[in-house]
Amino acid sequence: MGECVFCRIIAGELPATIVYQDDKVMAFRDIHPVAPTHVLIVSREHIPDLRAPEAADRDLMAAVAKAIRLIAEKEGLLAEGFRVVSNTGVKAGQSVFHLHFHLLGGRELGALG
Ligand code: 5GP
Ligand code: ZN
Repeated sequence: MGECVFCRIIAGELPATIVYQDDKVMAFRDIHPVAPTHVLIVSREHIPDLRAPEAADRDLMAAVAKAIRLIAEKEGLLAEGFRVVSNTGVKAGQSVFHLHFHLLGGRELGALG
């Protein structure tokens, strides 16, 4: 966990452009954005991915949904829409093994896959 880049951002050991936080989640801009809005919504607790039972916590998922809505609103994406993705496992393209949701928007996103 000491090696986990998102835990280090949450601990304030690494810089990030934080756009939202509450007691369950922190959200900051992706260092390599692929869309005009590319925010990562990250659990404060170190949970590897959606397969972990802790990821199904009701309060955590409510906080994620609230963060999505508030960030999308702040970014001006409520009318046009946006995409939320959580890569789960290496085959899905996950590269940081700490639960997170990509919030993408501000351009035509095209088909998944
Ligand atoms: P994944 O590939 O696991 O779905 O997403 C991890 C994301 O974290 C990538 O889009 C990557 O650009 C981003 N990322 C990796 N290291 C850092 C960092 O130190 N700071 C920020 N803001 N984003 C990071
Ligand atoms: Zn972590």
